[in-house]
Amino acid sequence: MDFKLTEEHEMIRQAAKDFAKNELLPGVIERDNKQEFPREQIKKLGELGFMGMMASPEYGGGGMDTISYVLAMEELSKVDASASVVVSVNNSLVCWGIDTYGTDLQKEKYLSKLTTGEALGAFCLSEPEAGSDATSQKTTAIDKGDHYVLNGTKNWITNGGNADFYLVIAQTDREKKHKGINAFIVEKSWEGFEVGPKEDKMGIRGSDTHSLNFNDVKVPKENRIGEDGFGFKFAMKTLSGGRIGIAAQALGIAAGAYELSKEYSKTRKAFGTEIMNHQAIAFKIADMHTQIEAARHLVMKAAWDKDQGQNYDLSGAMAKLYASQVAMDVSTEAVQIHGGNGYVKEYHVERMMRDAKITQIYEGTSEIQKIVISRSVLKD
Ligand SMILES: Cc1cc2nc3c(=O)[nH]c(=O)nc-3n(C[C@H](O)[C@H](O)[C@H](O)COP(=O)(O)OP(=O)(O)OC[C@H]3O[C@@H](n4cnc5c(N)ncnc54)[C@H](O)[C@@H]3O)c2cc1C
Repeated sequence: MDFKLTEEHEMIRQAAKDFAKNELLPGVIERDNKQEFPREQIKKLGELGFMGMMASPEYGGGGMDTISYVLAMEELSKVDASASVVVSVNNSLVCWGIDTYGTDLQKEKYLSKLTTGEALGAFCLSEPEAGSDATSQKTTAIDKGDHYVLNGTKNWITNGGNADFYLVIAQTDREKKHKGINAFIVEKSWEGFEVGPKEDKMGIRGSDTHSLNFNDVKVPKENRIGEDGFGFKFAMKTLSGGRIGIAAQALGIAAGAYELSKEYSKTRKAFGTEIMNHQAIAFKIADMHTQIEAARHLVMKAAWDKDQGQNYDLSGAMAKLYASQVAMDVSTEAVQIHGGNGYVKEYHVERMMRDAKITQIYEGTSEIQKIVISRSVLKD
């Protein structure tokens, strides 16, 4: 066993940390207030190679491992979880999905733009009546020979308004149930595609979440991913890896809130001494540190499993379940340690507490992770 990161890993972590400090921190409070998408920052992240980290170099990707990706996700999320979810969706859902299962043509046309930040991607599975129960797809894609005709509504789509290319999951043959589901690459400019209103959210307010409408959108057959009926498996495999990214996001939110709390406890005085000298506060710091280390080990193990070509459904689900709980616990305690200052925007931790909550909901709720975990361990 070797818990040491390589020099390259350390460099990637440092680059992400510097970017977060220099480019994300300035304006993060204002973007949260105004629900403003970090457009300039995402463009720069693309130029620096953070938008297609694990994708094939021949299509502009970084060819990096999952460990590198989670290190970057953690550092970016310590400062701005709105920006980091944009990075996560583009990397581990859209780029990974096309790189792993797409055709050469799809990779040339779409992946090469998504990896460089020239274009942004979105992943469209959820619908008003198909969230946790993703098999209940109402969006249809009817086979018309050389193309499909897409109709329906997706909701809760991250990057919904800012994306250029959308991975859309739809039902092509209802009788075949989940085996009659397909995934397609859809371009925003196509006729009949409409971006719905932006959601006014509790947290990750800088990321844009929209519903999307498809009204007789013609999708060329060459834009289907994989064999006919592969769409549900595609969505599940993609989300399985995506969860590792969201687990790293949760870890980053927790670590960011912890670091701010540790510093605050060393400077804030009450009863004639720094609050870290009150055991109640010192013990909170001890608990936070321990929980974060445990979450980090789960996240790293899931990333390592993926890099080793091993099954990561279980380790990814455990990492997300635990890290998202730690994000909630630690960010809530961070507000407590900051006292009244924790309750105002200037000190960042109230935003982190609001941002933490989403990590227990998207890419499979905590209850769904428990279903994945329990099914996996009980089958032995
Ligand atoms: C900000 C945001 C961004 C998102 N981004 C995207 C995106 O980019 N793409 C996308 O496709 N989706 C996205 N989603 C959707 C997200 O993945 C779903 O909201 C999530 O999967 C839960 O689905 P639901 O909201 O329909 O809740 P429901 O499925 O209605 O669940 C409601 C509650 O019931 C519980 N529950 C449901 N079924 C079971 C069960 N069998 N056993 C136990 N408990 C159960 C759930 O855990 C939850 O607590 C996003 C959501 C949000 C809020």
